[in-house]
Amino acid sequence: MLTTEITQEWMDKFYHKIEENKDYLSELDTPIGDGDHGNNMMRGMEGVKQGLAKLQKPDLKTILKNIAMSLISKVGGASGPLYGTAFLEMAKKCGETQDINALINAALDGIKKRGGATEGDKTMVDVWSPVAQTNEITQKVIDDAIASTKDMLARKGRASYLGERSIGHLDPGAVSSGYLFTALLETEA
Ligand code: ADP
Ligand code: MG
Ligand code: MG
Repeated sequence: MLTTEITQEWMDKFYHKIEENKDYLSELDTPIGDGDHGNNMMRGMEGVKQGLAKLQKPDLKTILKNIAMSLISKVGGASGPLYGTAFLEMAKKCGETQDINALINAALDGIKKRGGATEGDKTMVDVWSPVAQTNEITQKVIDDAIASTKDMLARKGRASYLGERSIGHLDPGAVSSGYLFTALLETEA
């Protein structure tokens, strides 16, 4: 069950993971992108932190919408509107159910619709999808999903410009999505 308290703590943990791994995320984005993913996500999470701090006794929908808007307006890269869409879809769905699995599935559908990527295209979808499909989110599910992007040929986003040369590198957005779900795991535990 996703609650307002869990979501706040989840974002706080995600913020710290992005902060700790900002340089690593940008390094991953260097050979197959433009080297800014860590900086993009850090800017986005600074926005999320500031946005949430301003809310007075918000309900879950308001929190999720606020996160979405910060990510869309602050991240800058292709990943911003995609992460933003994910949280916007969770905001739309949470009136109907607060089940975390159902919310992640709604988010995944939104990411796929917005970015046009599917499983195997070497994007964040390759982490969101196995996490959405599993009965129980574990660190192994997350780690295996991240690792699976290494041998994939990129078909969406900047990495797709490299064709075959995109093979052999982890997808940065898959790695940052992994941090998002590890942060959730640590929050629920
Ligand atoms: P940019 O490529 O604009 O610099 P970022 O570096 O912040 O943006 O984000 C790159 C990440 O965004 C990729 O690693 C990938 O996971 C994700 N991404 C890019 N395009 C798509 C897409 N069409 N669908 C899903 N994810 C995508
Ligand atoms: Mg980039
Ligand atoms: Mg960029």
